[in-house]
Amino acid sequence: MHIYPDAQAVVGAHRPTEPVILNRPHAAARAARYFVDNFPGKSLYAVKANPSPELLQILWDSSITHYDVASIAEVRLVARTLPNAVLCFMHPVKTAEAIHEAYFTHGVRIFSLDSLDELLKIREATHDADDLTLCVRLRVSSEFAELSLAAKFGADLNEMQELLMQSRQVADTMGICFHVGSQAMSPHAYVQALEKVRAAIVDASVTVDIVDIGGGFPSVYPGMKPPALTDYFEIIDRTYESLPISYSAELWCEPGRALCAEYSSLIVRVERRRGNELYINDGAYGALFDAAHIGWRFPVQSMNDLRQGDVEPFSFYGPTCDDMDYMAGPFELPADIAAGDYIEIGMIGAYGAAMKTAFNGFGDATSFDVADEPMASLYTGVVHRDRSQGNVISIGS
Ligand SMILES: *Cc1c(COP(=O)(O)O)cnc(C)c1O
Repeated sequence: MHIYPDAQAVVGAHRPTEPVILNRPHAAARAARYFVDNFPGKSLYAVKANPSPELLQILWDSSITHYDVASIAEVRLVARTLPNAVLCFMHPVKTAEAIHEAYFTHGVRIFSLDSLDELLKIREATHDADDLTLCVRLRVSSEFAELSLAAKFGADLNEMQELLMQSRQVADTMGICFHVGSQAMSPHAYVQALEKVRAAIVDASVTVDIVDIGGGFPSVYPGMKPPALTDYFEIIDRTYESLPISYSAELWCEPGRALCAEYSSLIVRVERRRGNELYINDGAYGALFDAAHIGWRFPVQSMNDLRQGDVEPFSFYGPTCDDMDYMAGPFELPADIAAGDYIEIGMIGAYGAAMKTAFNGFGDATSFDVADEPMASLYTGVVHRDRSQGNVISIGS
């Protein structure tokens, strides 16, 4: 496949009338290697962040061997794409049919649960298998995360004792897992959660073989510059080492966002300008779901070399007829941006490219590989903002 130098080259060659996704295999490989080399345990990739088969292959080639899957479709996808991968079915509420197929057809042995009902379901669907790894999901606070995952899943501390004791009877290997919420802006999120794990282990006095700290590792977006990942890894390692667990226990994590945010950017075209509102050809039902629904700010840059003027804040409308197809931003772009101009929207590799729908007849997108750096990187420690202004800000790492 042809690799273009950057977005400018893609626009020059194709003048695309539909949105284009630009993939940076080198950025995903770099993120994966960083986790493999530096996280003090095993790193599972959370497939929902971006299930692209090309990305799965890149992560596998970069030594990510375990994959956190949440639906039977994700189980099938990863089993088909990476036949030797270890699949971890980490959704705490699965159908019996999905568990059965995962166990008997795809060799899945690792399951999570947060209730006695789910434990019974797993036992029945696997015909009382004796080779299961069961991870009991603990509810923890999402207070340090930009996106909460605290409401839906996880057992409370007062339910954990019974759950851990009963799971221990069934499991060959048993773990405790949690998720601190996505884009956790402070390492303290993990410390607080691990202290809750400590309390659960002490209460139940059971042997715990795996502590899985979930995802939540951040990426870099406008207005969100997280501490360096080493700060997270060091304090997680220290807290984990102090837990009352066996010498042979394992530490796992399940990064989604941190492994793939830098993988992709998006080229959109301005179809109309109305004041400081730009009507672009992708939006809430496309790769910009988070920009619309939770006001996520992605970095942007105008791709028209002629536009060198001052920057101003803009908001976007997507292509569908729905009023909700609106992204408040603000997105900083040259003041004289006009219909026909192209914009590159960065850092959409996680929960961006994965969210596209065909609602209202929009949703087509081609994709190309490019060789340049993402607009920001947690792994190079550099934010390349608004290249039209030659404005490179170092964030230190
Ligand atoms: C979504 C999810 C992840 C990935 O979360 P990120 O914030 O993208 O790192 C990991 N584990 C579980 C169980 C999840 O639901």
